[in-house]
Amino acid sequence: MDDYDVIIVGTGAGGGTLARHLAPPGKRILLLERGDWLPREPQNWLADEVFVQNRYVSPDTWFDEKGIAFQPQVHYFVGGATKLYGAALYRLRAEDFGELRHHDGISPAWPISYDELEPFYTLAERLYHVHGARGEDPTEPPASAPYPYPAVSHEPRIQQLADQLAAAGHHPFHAPCGILLDEENPPYSICVRCANCDGFPCPVHAKADAEVLGVRPALEHGNVTLLTNAKATMLETNSAGTAVTGVVVEHDGGTETFAGDVVVVACGAANTAKLLLGSASDKHPNGLANGSDQVGRNFMFHDSVAVLALSREENPTVYQKTLGLNDFYFGSDEFEYPLGNIQMVGKSQAPMFRGEKPGETKLAPDWTLERVARHAIDFWLSTEDLPRSENRVGVDREGNLTLRYSETNAEAKKQLYKKLHSMLGKLDMNPGHLFHRFAYMRNDIPVAGCAHQAGTCRFGTDPSTSALNVDCRAHELDNLYVVDTSIFPSIGAVNPALTAMANSLRVGDHLVERLGARIPAAAGVEA
Ligand SMILES: Cc1cc2nc3c(=O)[nH]c(=O)nc-3n(C[C@H](O)[C@H](O)[C@H](O)COP(=O)(O)OP(=O)(O)OC[C@H]3O[C@@H](n4cnc5c(N)ncnc54)[C@H](O)[C@@H]3O)c2cc1C
Ligand code: SF4
Repeated sequence: MDDYDVIIVGTGAGGGTLARHLAPPGKRILLLERGDWLPREPQNWLADEVFVQNRYVSPDTWFDEKGIAFQPQVHYFVGGATKLYGAALYRLRAEDFGELRHHDGISPAWPISYDELEPFYTLAERLYHVHGARGEDPTEPPASAPYPYPAVSHEPRIQQLADQLAAAGHHPFHAPCGILLDEENPPYSICVRCANCDGFPCPVHAKADAEVLGVRPALEHGNVTLLTNAKATMLETNSAGTAVTGVVVEHDGGTETFAGDVVVVACGAANTAKLLLGSASDKHPNGLANGSDQVGRNFMFHDSVAVLALSREENPTVYQKTLGLNDFYFGSDEFEYPLGNIQMVGKSQAPMFRGEKPGETKLAPDWTLERVARHAIDFWLSTEDLPRSENRVGVDREGNLTLRYSETNAEAKKQLYKKLHSMLGKLDMNPGHLFHRFAYMRNDIPVAGCAHQAGTCRFGTDPSTSALNVDCRAHELDNLYVVDTSIFPSIGAVNPALTAMANSLRVGDHLVERLGARIPAAAGVEA
C-alpha cells in the first residue's frame, strides 16, 4: 500500500483544478480517474458521431425511481464532463449566495458569501482563460480584476442580434468563454474558432477544460501521479471511524487500495454520493459523511431547455456562444420570481437532427432539415431548480446508482420560454417558431441529461443539515473532503463549472495550509 499526502478521486472541474493548485508545493499527490484519456481523433469533430452515435457518452447504467435502467449522459475521461462542455464560464450572481425566493419556494443561502469566493473566481478565470467584458451585464457581481482575456467577438448575425436586443431595451452581453482563442494573432491562436465546440471534445486542445488546464499542468510536477481506468469503489476508515485510511480501487481487472493523509472526492455529484453511500460501515451505517442523512439528497441539474428560432435571413455563424442575456434572471414585468439565464448554444447542424426532426411536420413542405439548420439561431435557457430532499441519488442492494427526481420551478421555466418566444419578431426571426432541440439534452429521458448535476453533498455550518463543513471537509471525518458540484447548496441559473473550479481553489488553499506547504507565488497562473 502506497502512502500519499493527498489522494484526489476524479479529475474533472473539481478534482483537476485542485490537482493543479496542489501540485507546485511538492506534496505527493495521487489522482484516481475511472476513465481514460479522451482519444484525439477526427471523430471528435463529427456531429453524427458525437450527438447521434453518442461516441463519448461513457457506458454506465443507472436506475430511475421506478427501477427502470437508463444510460446517463456521463463522460468518464481525464478532465471529466469538461471534455465535452461548452466552456461558458459564469460566476454565480452575488444574490445566489443568499436566500432567494422563487416561484416554487426558497433557494437556500450558501455558508460562504460571494465576497469570500470572489478572489478564487478571479484566479479560476485566469487559469481557465476566460474571455469576457465586464460592465455589460447588469446582474454581474463585483469583480476584483478585469477578465484576463478580451471578449470573443460576435459574428455578424449574433452582432445583429445583440444590436436588436439593445434597441429593444435589453442588456445583451459578451458571454464568458473559456477557449484558447487569440483573435489578435490568428496564426498563433490555438483555437481555430470552429462550429464543433459546445458538446464536442476539442482535438486541438484549445478548450479550457480540466484535462488541458488542470491535470496536464499538474502532471508536469514529478510529485503528481495519475492512474487512469481506476474506479474508486469504497473508502475504508480506521476502527474509530474518524478518518479514511484506504481508497479501494478497481484497476487492471484487480483491486488495489491506496492510502493518503487527505482524501478528496470529486467524482461528480451523482458518483460522489454513490461512493460515500457505498462506503457504509459499522461506525457509519448510512454511509460516510452522512450523519445528517443529507448525502445523495438535494440533487439538482437545472431546468434547462435548448431551443432554436428561425432567422429570416440565413445564420452562417460558426462559433455562436458569444452572447448572453440575464435581464430576466431575477424576474420580469410579468413574473415577480426569478426566471433565469438566456445564452447561445452551439450552432445547429443538420446531422444533429437525425432522430429528432425539430418542428418538421409543422414546417413541411417548405423547410428541409438542412434549411432549418441554415436558418437556426440556437438558445439555451436555464432556470434554477430548487434543492429538494426527496430528489436524491441512492445505492440499491446490488450497488447500483438510483436517481429519483421530480421537476421544480417548472412555471419559471415556462415563463422564460414564453419571454423569448414573445421577443422573436423584434429580432428578425420567424415569430411563433421556437423549437426544442433534443440532441444536446437527451430530453427523451429527462434525468439522463444530467450535464449540470449538483448538490448531493452540500456544505454548511450545521452538521444536522449538511454533509460537509465550510472547508468542504466531512463533519464526521478528519481527512475526507469533497470539491465537485455536489457541495452546492443551491445551483443558481448560470452554468456551474467555474464555481466548482473556484471552490476547489478555495479548498486548495485550506489544504495547503493544513499540509504545511506553500504555493510558489506565480504557481498555476500561466497556462
Ligand atoms: C455537454 C456538456 C456541456 C456543458 N457545458 C457547460 C458549460 O458551458 N459551462 C459550465 O459551466 N458547465 C458546463 N457543463 C457542466 C460541467 O461540465 C460540469 O458542471 C463540471 O464538469 C462538473 O465538475 P465535477 O468536478 O463536479 O464533475 P466532472 O467534471 O464530471 O468530474 C468527475 C470526474 O470523476 C470521475 N469519476 C467518477 N466516478 C469515479 C470513481 N468512482 N472513481 C474515479 N473517478 C471517478 C469521472 O470520470 C470524471 O472524470 C457541461 C456539461 C456537459 C456534459
Ligand atoms: S472553437 Fe476552439 S476550443 Fe472550441 S472546439 Fe473549436 S478549436 Fe476547440
